[in-house]
Amino acid sequence: MTSCVFCDIISGSAPSDQLYADEELLVIQDIHPVAPVHVLVIPRKHIPSLNHLQPEDQALASRLLLTVPRIAHQLLGDDAAYRTIINTGAAAGQTVFHLHVHIISGRPFINHLLTRGLY
Ligand code: AMP
Ligand code: ZN
Repeated sequence: MTSCVFCDIISGSAPSDQLYADEELLVIQDIHPVAPVHVLVIPRKHIPSLNHLQPEDQALASRLLLTVPRIAHQLLGDDAAYRTIINTGAAAGQTVFHLHVHIISGRPFINHLLTRGLY
């Protein structure tokens, strides 16, 4: 028995609304969407967070990142505008400790870094 909900989804023992799957990745609808478009790109390999990526994960990391615009283009078209989020660590808001990229779109976004003068 695993305690990782995404591993359960990947193994098929938990349900999901799946948009795309290949031998390395899964793309599912977020169960609690925060915008009209909110999907998660999830590697099949259980990597707890970005902090746990290893040099041998280079090809997977590349594929994960390259999949983001491909899915975004499918959902949103060629001029896709979207926010990507990778929360890393509980203090940064990570709640599922299996690496995943959020793709969020379809509503206005505030640039919090700009509004706080961080850059
Ligand atoms: P994070 O807080 O960055 O770890 O993101 C975890 C995301 O997973 C949240 O947006 C949750 O709504 C989503 N989530 C949790 N459980 C499920 C599930 N069973 N199916 C789909 N999305 C889920
Ligand atoms: Zn997992």
